[in-house]
Amino acid sequence: MSIITDVLRSSSAILKGMKRTLSEIPREKWTVQYPEEPVTVQPRYRGMHLLHVDEAGKEKCVACYLCAAACPSDCIYIEAETDPRPYADRIGRDERYAKVYNIDYGRCIFCGFCVEACPKDAITHGYNFEISVYNRADLLKTKDDLLITKQKQSKNYRVALSTEDVDSEFKEV
Ligand code: SF4
Ligand code: SF4
Repeated sequence: MSIITDVLRSSSAILKGMKRTLSEIPREKWTVQYPEEPVTVQPRYRGMHLLHVDEAGKEKCVACYLCAAACPSDCIYIEAETDPRPYADRIGRDERYAKVYNIDYGRCIFCGFCVEACPKDAITHGYNFEISVYNRADLLKTKDDLLITKQKQSKNYRVALSTEDVDSEFKEV
């Protein structure tokens, strides 16, 4: 192959690349100036988990361990406890509740198997993705981090198709 053919082929490749780049310039920009502008996440997005409560604020989790058994990453740790007090006084909706409920986000792969396995709809994926930390140990989240009534919510995202700034499922504390 001659040098001239080589130069022509290279020039053609460069022109092709430049044409593609220039054609993108007038198009709508998808870049978001996060965190100044909120990021839009899709309704199916799997973010940090939420542990749910019933209408009276009682925890729905009955510490059955099904989520932990379904987890392929072995990142859920639960300690069960029994609270025989009347419904109005106890922590959970049922007598049995999770005294300890930890998820290690250093291992979680956000597969959603735990959510599928739960017979009480006690755990779902929320939309919070801001879980970056400087220390690996801080990726271990406890019940206080996961409970829907306690989890700190960010204003830095909105859910697509939602009219609110953040998903209505979230509560600010
Ligand atoms: S999302 Fe998957 S990896 Fe993460 S805790 Fe649930 S089952 Fe385990
Ligand atoms: S979150 Fe659901 S599956 Fe997991 S221990 Fe609680 S009730 Fe059982």
